[in-house]
Amino acid sequence: MRFGVLTSGGDAPGMNAALRAVVRTAIHYGHHIYGIKNGYQGLIENDMVLLLREDVSGMLTKGGTFLGTARSKDFLKLEVRELAIRNLQKRNIDALIVIGGDGTFRGAQALIEMGVNVIAIPATIDNDLGGTDFTIGFNTALNTIVEGIDKLRDTSSSHQRCSIIETMGREGGDLAIYAGICGGAEFIITKQHSVDKDKMIQTLAQWKKEGRRQAIIVATENIFNVHDLAEEITQKSGFATRATVLGYIQRGGAPVPQDRVLATQLGVYAVELAMEGIYGVGVGVRQETLVNAKVVDILSEVDDRSPLYELVDKVS
Ligand code: ATP
Repeated sequence: MRFGVLTSGGDAPGMNAALRAVVRTAIHYGHHIYGIKNGYQGLIENDMVLLLREDVSGMLTKGGTFLGTARSKDFLKLEVRELAIRNLQKRNIDALIVIGGDGTFRGAQALIEMGVNVIAIPATIDNDLGGTDFTIGFNTALNTIVEGIDKLRDTSSSHQRCSIIETMGREGGDLAIYAGICGGAEFIITKQHSVDKDKMIQTLAQWKKEGRRQAIIVATENIFNVHDLAEEITQKSGFATRATVLGYIQRGGAPVPQDRVLATQLGVYAVELAMEGIYGVGVGVRQETLVNAKVVDILSEVDDRSPLYELVDKVS
């Protein structure tokens, strides 16, 4: 067989580990595999190289993606995707493995509907895709955020401050919820679990009176301007508040062991599914079992409220 593999959308730690697993497994079974540069953009530009076993040496531990990634607006156009498909056909590539988040899965679905044999591997720090309990990169980003919260807690309690930490996550709340629980946050704000801002400020004012030394608020991006919120809390509650936006630091770093294992499991599984002729699916791990489901079904799964959220009030 001839495989193509690409990484697309926002980079996530563990993408390299997934590439390594895909490349090594394909070669293990005697197949050829092309690495496509910069996501769907490389498919359009016919920017691909035949990969050898040694091309992925040392990749297990490296953050980012050695193939590069991109957000390609052109790929949304049908005629551009037709060009991309011709580039696959020119090299007789029979199976395409894409590694990325929900946008990457939507791109995969567009190709599937045009007859391409695609398998999608979920890799995004946001953990906002169905079809798997965890996406590649989530646990590494979570570790980075928790380290940040622990450090901010030290300085907050020394100065008797409240700290707001803004996480990534887009529409998904998992990064904030898991990090909030790990960091002992008093409030967690996500799109799925909104807080009553006035009530929160009243509570903080009460805590300030009672002499609490610090409080932590973790918020998903794009809900509040966290600097304005810090100012408002300071003014109205008397609890001096500072906001920290963790930003792109959450995307980098060596993948933690959970992400290395997950990337390896899903990479091997994707190649083996292709060899069985199973396409049009996304792979995942649910309750420690490898699973696959139609990409179209994965995309229509709704991101429910996390049951973990219910813990927050009880322990704050
Ligand atoms: P992350 O969740 O980490 O940001 P992502 O995979 O969701 O990663 P996006 O930029 O949303 O990142 O998507 C990656 C690429 O997938 C887009 O740049 C685009 O090329 C392609 N894509 C997204 N939606 C579609 C679609 N509806 N049809 C065709 N291609 C799409």
